[in-house]
Amino acid sequence: MNKIIIRKTEELKEWRRNLQSDINFIPTMGNLHDGHQKLISTAQSLNCNTNLLSIFVNPLQFDSKEDLKSYPKTIDKDIEIAFSNGADAIFIPNVTDMYPKKNKSISYLKASKELSSALCGLTRVGHFDGVCTVVYRLLKLIQPKNLFLGEKDWQQLLIIKNLIEEKKFNIKIIPVPTQRDSDGVPFSSRNKHLSKNERKTLKLFSNELENAKIIFKKDKKIDLKQLTKKLKSKNISIEYLEHLHPYSLKKVQSNDNISILAGAIKCGKTRLIDHVFLMKRKPIIAIDGPAGSGKSTITKLIAKELNLLYLDTGAMYRAISWLFKKEKIDYAEESELKKILNNISIIFKSNSISQQDVFINNFCVTEEIRSQEISAIVSKISSIKKVREFLVYEQRKIGQSGGLVAEGRDIGTTVFPNAELKIFLTASIDERAKRRKSELDLRGTEEIDFNQLKELIRKRDFEDSTRKISPLKKANDAIELLTDGYSINEVVEKIVNIYNLKIPKEIQLE
Ligand code: C5P
Repeated sequence: MNKIIIRKTEELKEWRRNLQSDINFIPTMGNLHDGHQKLISTAQSLNCNTNLLSIFVNPLQFDSKEDLKSYPKTIDKDIEIAFSNGADAIFIPNVTDMYPKKNKSISYLKASKELSSALCGLTRVGHFDGVCTVVYRLLKLIQPKNLFLGEKDWQQLLIIKNLIEEKKFNIKIIPVPTQRDSDGVPFSSRNKHLSKNERKTLKLFSNELENAKIIFKKDKKIDLKQLTKKLKSKNISIEYLEHLHPYSLKKVQSNDNISILAGAIKCGKTRLIDHVFLMKRKPIIAIDGPAGSGKSTITKLIAKELNLLYLDTGAMYRAISWLFKKEKIDYAEESELKKILNNISIIFKSNSISQQDVFINNFCVTEEIRSQEISAIVSKISSIKKVREFLVYEQRKIGQSGGLVAEGRDIGTTVFPNAELKIFLTASIDERAKRRKSELDLRGTEEIDFNQLKELIRKRDFEDSTRKISPLKKANDAIELLTDGYSINEVVEKIVNIYNLKIPKEIQLE
């Protein structure tokens, strides 16, 4: 594709009308650095869309005239950087073209009140309104498929996400983690203004935030007052330092697993921001749903895609059922049960075919636990209180430090009620029986009639959802996905997208 530079909005409209492909859009204010380069290269590596970068120093978002006047402008170098990193087109409008005085159709927007009344919004009056106005105008002109935004400006990212939802734009935000220099300082165009000593101050600040993150991992708490005192003792001029919920930007609550520690400081005349995400444990995804809803296939793929541990809790109930059957255990005998459970060990080991082998007391039972014989008794055995207590304890032990996606019936309600993302996966009974039938046919181990299979699933649904302890039920905060008519990949993509909107990329990479 020929590289193109567009300078007029009319020219842009014409180019857009003739464009056959979708657009990855990277809005910037120029003075491109490694942070911008990462946005462009991420866009380029993701798909074959046209990568359009805009360079526009938006006067509406500057609360200080001096800051606007001194904002670094390096257009020729920017063009070179953008094109060499994968931009196909660059849009460089001027102010009068973006905001023509006589054009009454331009909407001057207000940013979400909730999101703009914290952090930078407290002192930078009108800043986020200006951001919303320019982004809205650019999005209307460009109509991109994907919008690439850096997590460096986290509050701005949340406000733009809110704007896109409010305006019902069909645009996917792709967040890109903060890029840092070798001394830990995040890349920012304003770093250019810093003297050697001011840069040192900024480095101290960024390093202290990073330090706080490490301490939080260990202590699971943070003393904001003490940190503020420490920063002040190092002559760091703090504008704000806040510990908040990462998405609502409200004060953090004791049961929030992920939070943001964000601050703004003054280095000489330059105002700079930085943040870290704090987490008590790595994220957890809970996937619940009835038999045959596609949980296993989908959960395995999600684990792979998001680099999470895969926990199949159904396999644990099946493995116990297998052992009880093999050893002819009378599970009505409570006191016996306790002794037996105390001597059970269930282990998962990764393999390259089904991803995981299941071992119970050193027997590899991966295949055998999937038989109809086991399916027919597992619901009964999984309704025994002692069995559930034992397995829930084991499952929590596996998920102690997070970083996993677990599937079952009671994950979101009982095992991990604090999971960051809860999905309730369902499908019609016909669809589920169809899927199980082809799964069994593929395995080729047993013949089963479709209607008989449907009946078995219906029976298991009934037993699982009416049992006394932790019945199969959608958690209040779970997202229900009805998968009839969707391909496996479509469901996986949906869940991964929701996860990406709930968990900052910076955390995912840790
Ligand atoms: O998911 P799968 O079909 O392998 O689960 C087998 C059975 O194990 C379920 O029908 C249910 O009775 C039980 N189970 C449970 N709680 C879980 C997972 C599975 O009761 N978390």
